[in-house]
Amino acid sequence: MNRVTIIGGGWAGLSAAVHAVNSGWQVRLLEAAPQTGGRARRITHQGLALDNGQHILIGAYRDTLALMQLVGVDTGKHLWRMPLTLRTPDGDGLRLPALPAPLNVLAGIVSARGWTWEDKWRLIRRAIQWQQQRFECSAGMSVAELCRGLPPAVMALMIEPLCVSALNLPPAQASAPIFLRVLQDALLGGIGSSDMLIPSVDQSRLFPDAAVQWLQQRGAEVVTGHYVEDLSPYLSSPVVLACPPWEAARLTHSINPAWSAQAAALQHTAIATVYVQAHAKVDWPYPVMALRSNSTAPAQFAFDKARLSGDTAMQGVIAMVVSASNGDREQISQAVLAQAREQLGLQHATVLFAVLEKRAAFACTPDVDRPSAQPGDQVLACGDYVQGPYPSTLEAAVRSGIQAVALLKGLHMRENTL
Ligand SMILES: Cc1cc2nc3c(=O)[nH]c(=O)nc-3n(C[C@H](O)[C@H](O)[C@H](O)COP(=O)(O)OP(=O)(O)OC[C@H]3O[C@@H](n4cnc5c(N)ncnc54)[C@H](O)[C@@H]3O)c2cc1C
Repeated sequence: MNRVTIIGGGWAGLSAAVHAVNSGWQVRLLEAAPQTGGRARRITHQGLALDNGQHILIGAYRDTLALMQLVGVDTGKHLWRMPLTLRTPDGDGLRLPALPAPLNVLAGIVSARGWTWEDKWRLIRRAIQWQQQRFECSAGMSVAELCRGLPPAVMALMIEPLCVSALNLPPAQASAPIFLRVLQDALLGGIGSSDMLIPSVDQSRLFPDAAVQWLQQRGAEVVTGHYVEDLSPYLSSPVVLACPPWEAARLTHSINPAWSAQAAALQHTAIATVYVQAHAKVDWPYPVMALRSNSTAPAQFAFDKARLSGDTAMQGVIAMVVSASNGDREQISQAVLAQAREQLGLQHATVLFAVLEKRAAFACTPDVDRPSAQPGDQVLACGDYVQGPYPSTLEAAVRSGIQAVALLKGLHMRENTL
């Protein structure tokens, strides 16, 4: 059996490991942290199973969903599925009805609240134009340029929340081709592809814990608490780097300086999740609410953790997400607390716990130059940052793991022919 060493046990590394085992490889996975999951993992606070960051998946994440099912996760039970809903507490915004695409989009726009008929008509015309252009645009375009001329209410209640949650950048800085690709897959990817899938369990239970168990049952070696300092001890067989780009850059410095420099040059953006204790009854129409976000009220979304999890211990716990966040943890927490009081009417709310992940996502700017998946002859790379159609997301991470295994097969075949 051919041996492969995978360095990093986030969703990309676990995806690579599961697919490699399925393709007959003997897998050794080395993870620096005490637990797998990387940026999408559980953090326990005062006995509550919270996350390193509140996540949302969408129905278009087909490889992520297939992988979760492969390792035995009940995606119907562990993900709360609802139609795309961007409704603010005052009821404004978009909600797609349960109809086949593109009827759901059309009906959602027509029934959106807080937009004039002129606003809706302009959005419909622009959506038709994007579809006629096959959701393609020039590589260097920003989302703000792509959406120039759309009404301010449509920008504020639809484009900005979608852009910042998918690309973790405001429209002026975000890549238009990648935004269009996500829109296309979500809106036209088939039944349910635009649905929001919100975890009802913590991020580790959602996939990494089941993946590790699945791997170990099939003879793979999963070692946590093992930080790889140097690649040389592992290079007698193929290596897959599944660590973040700055670590991959360090490990490949002497193997491929150009690839290493490219990975090191990526910029990163932050996401904060502020867990707020409501100290009041939370009675929203949906378990996730869109918020009106600005520099002083920075959160874009709020999640009712008790409703999502069905766990009474989570009563009153609200996860408030600040994508593309600025400032330190304390400043963000205080601003979010004021926003919870003002926009959600939670006058007695207090901050329970806040996580600020400074390098949450690579900056998906129009000029971003993503490294390839093969830095060396025997060295492959996977992770949400490697070249691919998606921004920094779970789906990008999972797909990159699949791609690394496809390249592994190529290496193996080449070796056998030589
Ligand atoms: C707060 C937050 C919110 C997010 N929200 C969403 C969302 O709503 N939807 C979505 O799709 N995506 C979201 N993302 C993005 C998503 O979490 C990432 O795209 C994904 O987890 C990246 O996985 P990865 O395996 O590529 O990298 P990572 O998760 O970073 O995994 C890399 C692993 O490598 C390990 N490692 C590093 N160096 C070494 C070494 N030298 N030796 C051994 N191991 C090493 C690390 O410990 C880590 O476990 C969010 C991210 C954050 C932080």
